[in-house]
Amino acid sequence: MIMYGWTGKFLRVNLSRNKAVAEQYDASIAKNFLGGRGFAVKILWNELKPGTDALSPDNKLIFAAGPLTGWTLPSSGKLVVAAKSPLTGGYGDGNVGTHAAVEMRKAGYDAVIIEGKAEKPTALLIRDNSIDFLDGKDLWGLNSFETEKKMRELYGKTAGVLAIGQGGENLVTFANIVCQEGRAGGRPGIGAVMGSKNLKAVVIIGSRELPAAFPKEMKELGAEAYREVMTKPNYAFWKRQGTMSTIEWSQENSVLPTYNYREGVFEKAEAIGGFAMEKLKVGNRGCPQCNMTCGNVVKDSFRKESELDYENVAMLGSNIGLGNLRQVAALNRVADEFGLDTISLGNVLGFAMEASEKGLIEERIPWGSFKSSKALIEDIAYRRGFRGNLFAEGVRNVAEKLGKGSERWAMHVKGLEVSGYDCHTTPAMALAYATSSIGAHHKDAWVISWEVKAGRENYSTEKVDKVITLQQIRAGVFESLTVCRLPWVEVGFELEWYPRLLHAATGFEMNWNTLNLIADRIFNLTRAFWVREYGKEWSSGMDVPPARWFEEPITKGPLKGSKLDRAKYDAMLQAYYKRRGWDERGIPTKGTLKRLGLNDAVGQLKKRVKLSE
Ligand code: SF4
Repeated sequence: MIMYGWTGKFLRVNLSRNKAVAEQYDASIAKNFLGGRGFAVKILWNELKPGTDALSPDNKLIFAAGPLTGWTLPSSGKLVVAAKSPLTGGYGDGNVGTHAAVEMRKAGYDAVIIEGKAEKPTALLIRDNSIDFLDGKDLWGLNSFETEKKMRELYGKTAGVLAIGQGGENLVTFANIVCQEGRAGGRPGIGAVMGSKNLKAVVIIGSRELPAAFPKEMKELGAEAYREVMTKPNYAFWKRQGTMSTIEWSQENSVLPTYNYREGVFEKAEAIGGFAMEKLKVGNRGCPQCNMTCGNVVKDSFRKESELDYENVAMLGSNIGLGNLRQVAALNRVADEFGLDTISLGNVLGFAMEASEKGLIEERIPWGSFKSSKALIEDIAYRRGFRGNLFAEGVRNVAEKLGKGSERWAMHVKGLEVSGYDCHTTPAMALAYATSSIGAHHKDAWVISWEVKAGRENYSTEKVDKVITLQQIRAGVFESLTVCRLPWVEVGFELEWYPRLLHAATGFEMNWNTLNLIADRIFNLTRAFWVREYGKEWSSGMDVPPARWFEEPITKGPLKGSKLDRAKYDAMLQAYYKRRGWDERGIPTKGTLKRLGLNDAVGQLKKRVKLSE
C-alpha cells in the first residue's frame, strides 16, 4: 500500500551482527499509533521480553518520528528516543530537537530500531539505503559536543548527529542523548542504553523528498502556519526569554523547587530569572524547522556558551541553592557535555547536599557550592570512586542504599526524578507527575499554570479531567505526531492546525476525536508496558508523589505551612483511575484494553497480574 505522510519504513539495525534491514511496516500501525512515542511503545511492547535487563543487548533503542516530523512547518524537527529505562525499569523516552529527525525521515525511515551490542565502540552512519558501522575507538571518551563536531567535520555540516557523552559510556542511569550542543532527550537513561550497546554516535543524512498526499497544500499550509505563529501577541517576549520567564512565575507562585524541594521560593530567584538571563544572553538556538527558537545562549563562568531554559536553571540553580546564573550555566554546559540529564542531575545534587547536611554521607557538599557540584558531576559522569558510583544510580537507588528515612525526601516517581515544579501546594500537578508515562516528568501534563489560576487548594474531579485532557493532547498527540507542543502551549498556536496539516501530509481526515482515541490507546499501552514489567509488584503506590510534599510543609513565602493532603490525593487518584477505565490498582481493565483494540495486551497482562473486567 502506498503511504503518504509516513515513509512506511523502519530501519532495523543489529549491532551484534553488523546488519541493517529496511522493513515495510503495516499501515495499520501508522493509523493506530501515529508515530513517535506511539511507534516506540508499540515496538517495545511487541518485541521486548518482560524482565529484559535494560542495559543488556536484548534491550532495544528506538528513534521514532511521526507523520508531521521533518516537514517545513512549525517546530517539526523533533525525534522520540526510547527504550526500556535502566533508571525506572519501565517505559522510558524523551524527545529531542535535532537535525537527525529531519534527516532520518528524508533518508526514508519513520523509525530506527537498534538491537544487540557492538563488539567495540561504534558509530552508525545512515545515508539513505547505505548503512555503515564505523570504528568508534577515537570517539570513545570524547564528550557529546566533541563527538558531534568530529562527525560533522567528516560528514558535513547538515548531517544529523545524535551522540552520548561520558555519562552514557559509563552507564549513568540518567544519561541522555545530546545533539546541537545543548539539545538533549531521553531523561530516563536512554543515553546509558546507547552506551550499553557500545554505540557512541548515530549520523543520519537523507536525500529524499517526504511523500505528501497533497504536496501543494502541505507547502502552503506550512508557510501559513509559520506566519500565524509570528502574529501571536506573546511571540516577541517568547523570543527574548523562552521558558526562562517561568523562574519569576514559579517564585511568585511558590512552586520554584528550592533546596531539594523543601521550599517553593528561593531568596536569590531574581538573580537566576529571565531578566537576569537577558543581561547575559548572546543569542538564540533552537530545533530545526522552528521559528520560536527558545534556547537562550549565554556565556557561562568559563566564558563558554551554554543554552539555558527554565528546567535546567531551576534544577541546577534554586534546587541546589545556587544563585549565580553564570555558574548555573557552567554546570548546565558541563552536564550537556557529559550527556547527563539536567533535571535528574539537579535532583541528585540536591539530594547529596541534603544527605551531607544530615550526616548520611561523609563528604561535605554544601548548599549552593559551585565547586562541590562540579566535582560531584564529574565523579558521576566517570562513576569515579564510591560517591560517583553511588549517585550515578539516581535518587531512588541512593535512598535505598543510605536508608535512615532518606526515601521520604528522594524526589522521584517510579524512579524518575521530579521536574522543576514544587508541588506542596499543587495537587493536580502532583497527580500529573505521578501518572506521567515515564515517571515524574512535566511533559505529559503541564497543568500547573492552569491550576494556579483555577485554585490550587481543591482536589476536584475537574482537576482530574484537566490532567487527562492534557495527557491526551501532549503525551499522546504531540509526542506521536512528533512535533513540539510549545507553539500551542506558549504562544497559542491553535490545535485546529494539526488535523489540517495531518490531512495534507497523509490524506487522512483525523479530527481531534480520532486523535484522542489514538492518544488513549498509546497511553494505555504505555501503562500496560509498566504493569507487564512490574507484574505483582505493581500497586497504586507507584502513582504517588514523594512523601516530602505530604509530610513537610513549606516554611517560607506567602503559602508558608502548606502541604499536600494524602487522603484527598488518594481519592483524586482513584477518580483518575476510574475516568481512565483502570481498576483501583491503576491497571487498565479488560474492557478498556479491548475498547482500544489492545487485545494482545489483555492476553499478555493476564499472565502477569489478575485483570479486572
Ligand atoms: S519551541 Fe523550543 S523546544 Fe520547541 S521546537 Fe522550537 S526551539 Fe525546539
